Amino acid sequence: MADLPTAINSLEALGFSEFFRAQIDETAHAQGWIPGRIIAQHRGEWDVLAESGTIRAVLAGRLYDELQRSERPSALQPTVGDWVLVARPTEGRLHVIEKTLQRRTHLERGAAGRRREPQTIVANVDVVVILCALPPPGAQDSVAHRSINPRRIERYLSAVAQGGADSIIGLNKADLCPNAEEIAAELRERFAPQPVVTLSTKIPGGLQPLEGRLSAGCTAGLVGLSGVGKSSVVNALLGRTLQRTSAAREQDARGRHTTTHRELFVTEAGVLLIDTPGMREFALSPNDDELGGFEDVMTHAAHCRFRDCRHRGEPGCAVAEAIRQGLLTEDRVQSYRQLAEELTQQKTSRARGGPVRAHSKTAKRRPAPKRSKGTPRDPID
Ligand code: GDP
Ligand code: ZN
Repeated sequence: MADLPTAINSLEALGFSEFFRAQIDETAHAQGWIPGRIIAQHRGEWDVLAESGTIRAVLAGRLYDELQRSERPSALQPTVGDWVLVARPTEGRLHVIEKTLQRRTHLERGAAGRRREPQTIVANVDVVVILCALPPPGAQDSVAHRSINPRRIERYLSAVAQGGADSIIGLNKADLCPNAEEIAAELRERFAPQPVVTLSTKIPGGLQPLEGRLSAGCTAGLVGLSGVGKSSVVNALLGRTLQRTSAAREQDARGRHTTTHRELFVTEAGVLLIDTPGMREFALSPNDDELGGFEDVMTHAAHCRFRDCRHRGEPGCAVAEAIRQGLLTEDRVQSYRQLAEELTQQKTSRARGGPVRAHSKTAKRRPAPKRSKGTPRDPID
């Protein structure tokens, strides 16, 4: 296991705050449980960074039972970014996670894969960087659309807002795209007040617009399709004195790779960075009560005559009126309708215990990837 990064000399530097401190109760004090942050997840084991260094820990049996019985296991399963309380080991045993502190924010996605369970992708992030790649010049429309897809960005923005974090839209590979600023300006207009920054990992200072928005002690998650440059951005932000916070590709006794691909890193500037694997599918989570990130539409929707107005031509629809007055665009409302209906559908299926319909046709058609025996399935690939 790697040494404790030198940047971490207090829990605050790791993102600990009063919100979490207030959750340490009498029992925890009496038992001498210590707070730490999950920096990597293995199969049934977690790497926890505490003031004393990195600890390998297992879940207390009591919590494991709770997890098995829970209707919302994703809310209880410790995830990268979570704060936990750990009991020191009695002789020769592993440290034990006794409590997962309530999350301040989360990024969750809906059912994917066979288990049809919502998944928490990262916990306690202040900001999520939604990374896209700008299209190279002369890219066909289809390629350009795949690169910067406002509907996909909107889906992420909604999920991030739902979980209580801020978003930054990062347009990478600006070095390849002569009209990068033009595209950025369009997105700024569409997604205001969300910040949109153009980035490049290939030119000096190319990440400055992002670095300028991430301060020491803040936790940033990085999401986006594979190939957009997430690893390149992480490596560039980590700088030369790269401090991996755990042994990422470590193997267990049977030679299996044990780490999933989410991991918390500490950059030279003291920013806590959580990388996530490229996600093919990003459905909204049925755990979320309401659609996030559409305050503009919802403000108007609150004034519709019918409480369950679907804004599809019902009489007295305030959303339709707002479109007529030029306060909302039809396109924006269409996104809202689509995501709102998807969320309702997810919730209904979940309530019935039935299968959740994947929102993407490609996701439905593609067979589950075959994995060699003994390779743990990355919970979010
Ligand atoms: P990830 O799958 O999102 O982690 O993407 P990678 O970091 O592996 O990058 C995918 C490819 O894009 C690699 O060949 C990188 O060298 C390239 N790449 C990453 N950032 C940039 C950039 O800013 N400009 C250009 N031109 N290429 C980039
Ligand atoms: Zn309406």
